[in-house]
Amino acid sequence: MFELSEEHREFRHSVRDFAAAEIAPHAAEWDRKHYFPVEVVQKMGRLGLFGLTAPEEYGGSGGDFTSLCVAIEEISRVDQSMGITLEAAVGLGINPILTFGTDEQKATWLPDLVAGTKLAGFGLTEPESGSDAAATRTRAVLDGGEWVIDGAKQFITNSGSSITSCVTVTARTGEKPDGKAEISTIIVPAGTPGFVAEAAYDKLGWHASDTHPLSFENCRVPAANLLGERGKGFAQFLATLDDGRVAIAAVALGCIRACLEMSVQYAGERKTFGIPIGRKQGVAFQIADLKVMADAAEMLVYRAAALKDAGASRADFKQAASVAKLYATESAVTATRIATQVFGGYGFMEEYPVTRFYRDAKILEIGEGTSEVQRMLIARSLGLPVE
Ligand SMILES: Cc1cc2nc3c(=O)[nH]c(=O)nc-3n(C[C@H](O)[C@H](O)[C@H](O)COP(=O)(O)OP(=O)(O)OC[C@H]3O[C@@H](n4cnc5c(N)ncnc54)[C@H](O)[C@@H]3O)c2cc1C
Repeated sequence: MFELSEEHREFRHSVRDFAAAEIAPHAAEWDRKHYFPVEVVQKMGRLGLFGLTAPEEYGGSGGDFTSLCVAIEEISRVDQSMGITLEAAVGLGINPILTFGTDEQKATWLPDLVAGTKLAGFGLTEPESGSDAAATRTRAVLDGGEWVIDGAKQFITNSGSSITSCVTVTARTGEKPDGKAEISTIIVPAGTPGFVAEAAYDKLGWHASDTHPLSFENCRVPAANLLGERGKGFAQFLATLDDGRVAIAAVALGCIRACLEMSVQYAGERKTFGIPIGRKQGVAFQIADLKVMADAAEMLVYRAAALKDAGASRADFKQAASVAKLYATESAVTATRIATQVFGGYGFMEEYPVTRFYRDAKILEIGEGTSEVQRMLIARSLGLPVE
């Protein structure tokens, strides 16, 4: 079940070649300059990476979720910024529209997103609503055939680039009979008056990915921009995040693999006391631990992907997604710490990629549901009434 098919392995090679030629040589410079390489994103589009799971009628190849995870893993093996750009573009940009959109919405937005000529963001997080995503304060009111949106979102990936075509945002659209907020999702085209993607964040890592705070002030979009049914926003983002968790675990897997490969190579070359450091158990055992993390994360990521591709029950997939996300992302943080240690002082210098991987890894334990949230979801899936 966890063995990748021959087809997946061949596909892995083609993405690996692309990443080695088009991304790896430039990743350090993009990181240093905080540069979002639109031209490379569009090349990834021409390779078909954004359309891997999209139907052919929108320009996709109608492939499986496993293929997408393979692509994300391979891109992240050289650059997490580009890995997360792909992950968010598909998982958070394309998927909500593909899954919940009307035929007209799909025809309007998907062809460009699938081609990778445009990007879409997914605005859920707000200044006062992150883990507690249902506490959204952004409001949308129907007025004269239009939604009028007021509020703010923060930390939104792919939301303010020069090729961002739209963001889907969650907003309170009323109150349910039980007094809880009615949450709906609305598509907001880039350039709509009242919608502003503010200056990009200055982040610890993922410097070459596009992340912005968003503000909405008397922002009017047609009533037809409602995504799916009114009041279904909560269920929509929960489903969106389940897939996203496996995909972000694939980013983490790429990071662990890179740490392993960099460490094996360096430990074979670097000598202290007259012999390569890899001959010393203190170093070699740490690298052995990296191999265990890489293999375990691989099994968990591709088990979750296989469950999705096989149409497993939502409960089984949801639990496997959280398990993969939790293990792979926490292991990625540990792996970057170990790799940095193996590199000694050079591990602290930007001339080696290991430094960039160290900075990039931390957010993996936070985005798309923190480690604490994953533990909460896993505990609940075991029947524990954890709050
Ligand atoms: C670079 C980047 C990109 C992002 N991209 C997107 C995006 O595209 N779209 C989007 O909507 N969001 C995005 N996010 C937001 C991200 O998903 C949130 O930051 C994350 O869900 C955590 O929310 P928070 O930051 O509000 O932390 P909080 O919810 O305030 O959590 C703070 C701490 O409290 C802990 N905590 C909270 N509740 C509990 C609990 N019940 N039990 C135990 N511990 C708890 C958390 O685990 C965390 O350690 C991005 C964030 C970053 C940094």
